[in-house]
Amino acid sequence: MSDIIQLLPDHVANQIAAGEVVQRPASVVKELLENAIDAEASSIKLLIKDAGKTLVQVIDNGSGMSVTDARLSFERHATSKIRSAEDLFQLNTKGFRGEALASIAAIAHVELKSKTEEDEVGTQLIIEGSEVVSQEVVVTPKGTSIAVKNLFFNIPARRNFLKSNQVETRHIIDEFHRVALAHPNIQFVMYHNGSEVFNLPESNYRQRIVNIFGSKTNEKLVPVNEETEVVKISGFVGKPEYAKKSRGEQFFFVNNRFIKSAYLNHAISSAFEGLLKESTHASYFLNLNVNPETIDINIHPTKTEIKFDDEHTLYAILRASVKHSLGQFNIAPVLDFERDSNLDTPYDYKDIQNPSTPNIEVDRSFNPFQERQTSGNRATAFKKQTPSNWDSLYVGLESKGTKSQQDFTSVQFESEEQTGSIFNQQTPVETKQSTFQIQNKYVVSTIKSGMLVIDQYRAHQRVLYEDFLKNMTIKESMSQQLLFPIQLHFSSQEIDILKQVKEDLEYTGFLFSDISKDSIEISGVPVHVPESEVSVILEQLINDIENEVPDSNFSPTDLLAKSMAKSLAVKTGQSLSVPEQEHLVNSLFGCKEPNMSPTNKSTFITLSVDELDKKFI
Ligand code: ADP
Ligand code: MG
Repeated sequence: MSDIIQLLPDHVANQIAAGEVVQRPASVVKELLENAIDAEASSIKLLIKDAGKTLVQVIDNGSGMSVTDARLSFERHATSKIRSAEDLFQLNTKGFRGEALASIAAIAHVELKSKTEEDEVGTQLIIEGSEVVSQEVVVTPKGTSIAVKNLFFNIPARRNFLKSNQVETRHIIDEFHRVALAHPNIQFVMYHNGSEVFNLPESNYRQRIVNIFGSKTNEKLVPVNEETEVVKISGFVGKPEYAKKSRGEQFFFVNNRFIKSAYLNHAISSAFEGLLKESTHASYFLNLNVNPETIDINIHPTKTEIKFDDEHTLYAILRASVKHSLGQFNIAPVLDFERDSNLDTPYDYKDIQNPSTPNIEVDRSFNPFQERQTSGNRATAFKKQTPSNWDSLYVGLESKGTKSQQDFTSVQFESEEQTGSIFNQQTPVETKQSTFQIQNKYVVSTIKSGMLVIDQYRAHQRVLYEDFLKNMTIKESMSQQLLFPIQLHFSSQEIDILKQVKEDLEYTGFLFSDISKDSIEISGVPVHVPESEVSVILEQLINDIENEVPDSNFSPTDLLAKSMAKSLAVKTGQSLSVPEQEHLVNSLFGCKEPNMSPTNKSTFITLSVDELDKKFI
């Protein structure tokens, strides 16, 4: 048999390597920005078109390349950064594999312009799918500009695999943040489709964080500084009360390189132990400086993971210094005496004291199962009977402490009564109390065939979801004007997200009097939304939009309705008065799809008498 092994042609090898280096436009952004930093630029511009799918361009004022270097830079394993294996252990540059430009050029149309300080004129090089199309003399300032167009033009499968522009932009911005945070001494500007997204002047670290994440960030930051033999730690952690629902603002940099480390992240969370609300995450922006010989950054192709010689010590030091800072800046639980208690209870407390006050018409004869066939009309017909009773649920929602005790006694009392009636089998349950609550989580109701167990949180989400959706679709809703507009601060990205959903938010009842670069002013809120909940709702919404993996039927309206329903629904653990329970049950069965929560989980189960009988055999 003849020899069959062949060497792969370079362009094929490059395409394969590209698979490792370039997953998406954001990977190109990362590589190009890092090259500019390695070239010691003091000012770097990033230009993006269509989430990087059409164009990623980085322009720097760094060292530039000679004519020959420009040509060589696109060869595989061509690097100016290491010369021998030993160099690997003393790395101070971002790149060193000499793979990025070769990989990128294999799968895109690349246009490079570069000029060094010494050269009179620069060089322009055009490469398409690893093939040099032209190299010419060009007039260009000192530094380098690399434009990467039509990414994956020759690999349609990869191109189709890219996510929506929203998701790809998110990834690009994440990379941009990481690089910009690691280098506050460099000016960064970013444009997307011609408009400026970030303009970050050279500054100190705190200022850089604030310039990226918005001016309200400043007051949240607690400095962390520690110097030991093993590591020098500097940076900030966010005060616990500003902890976010998303894990967005968590950054570790080791020797100015962004890294991910679940282990070190754990060190921070444990330093925050007891200080954070459930399901929130502390923000942090921490730089660790270690001797480059004690780390191995070569274990991951995109180099966001790192191996430390002595991870345990690092963990302990990190945890201790964060704890120390939180203690020193007196972050441990602060009682907020100045808080206006009215903010917490938007409805008159009198109403809450006495559970019988809410005047609710409940359709006691209503049987959701009987009327299934006429479902279309049922919803509207039923709703007519219980107009404007929504507030009653929210009275329950806002009442804390005292309220639950009150209810507890009343429920106990009434259920005792009911026990009697069950035994003599005389009084039909519906004419008395038809619902009760278990563990402040489930609402139980009797039906002809047996019983109904409703998950209160999911059920209320369904009710609110349909309500919001309806308002947004018919573009009509009630808004309550605020006497004093609320001003909320957000980062510029968050503002962008809010702008996208502004119109829909208005259909739910929000009124925006002003939207600036880093803040919004709200002059009206939906009638049943307490003022104190507004920032939570918007934060949750932004978080949901950011984390949504959009598919073809992604709808912002739907997401908004879901998100608001999630924020506003009565939670598990909330005690509901009997009228509130009944109202919830009735409203649920007034919905178009009562069986499922907006996130497709069952809202209730039924237990028939037959099933109960079986259990007693
Ligand atoms: P690496 O960064 O791993 O060395 P790259 O493929 O990213 O590999 O770049 C190859 C070489 O091209 C670099 O080593 C550097 O010499 C040169 N280079 C790339 N980008 C720039 C730039 N913006 N300015 C100056 N030189 C650059
Ligand atoms: Mg590089």
